Amino acid sequence: MKLPICYYGHENLRKKAKPIKEITKYIEDLVSNMIETMGEDVGIAANQIGVALRLLVIAPIIKNNKSEYIIGSAEVYINPKLSEPSAETEIMSEGCLSFPSLHLDIERPKEITIEALNLKGQVIKEVVKGFKARQIMHENDHLNGVLFIDRFKDEKKKFYLERILKKMKKKYNK
Ligand SMILES: [Zn+2]
Repeated sequence: MKLPICYYGHENLRKKAKPIKEITKYIEDLVSNMIETMGEDVGIAANQIGVALRLLVIAPIIKNNKSEYIIGSAEVYINPKLSEPSAETEIMSEGCLSFPSLHLDIERPKEITIEALNLKGQVIKEVVKGFKARQIMHENDHLNGVLFIDRFKDEKKKFYLERILKKMKKKYNK
């Protein structure tokens, strides 16, 4: 089932999510609803559909056997913990389901380690790089009530961003 998204200005986006104690049928259903809601996008955190639980889903960009980039199948991370961010950073353009048609250049570490549970309750630990690291960091931020606009550092463009955000708040929170 596709669920309504919380857009910028919605109080849920600023709530710190709580750990999941047990992977129940509710969590399994929630995950499949999140995947459906994510659609063609590449990442979603539970807060974005109004559930303050530490759960994120990403769809990695992978290469198929013709060397074309395609969106791979969804990966689920429950109670993620990030550690060991690389000192080296990079700037990439990011978007967010909660900010329709807004794209911002955001600086983040190139590499990070994620430890989490999968849907079967197994511990997974991965060192992730590049775009996947970015997807995970962006979604993990959501779980802490942090949004990508908070990490936008271009002082000259901040003025324009403020104006865009003001309009967005009005449009999506009637
Ligand atoms: Zn987002």
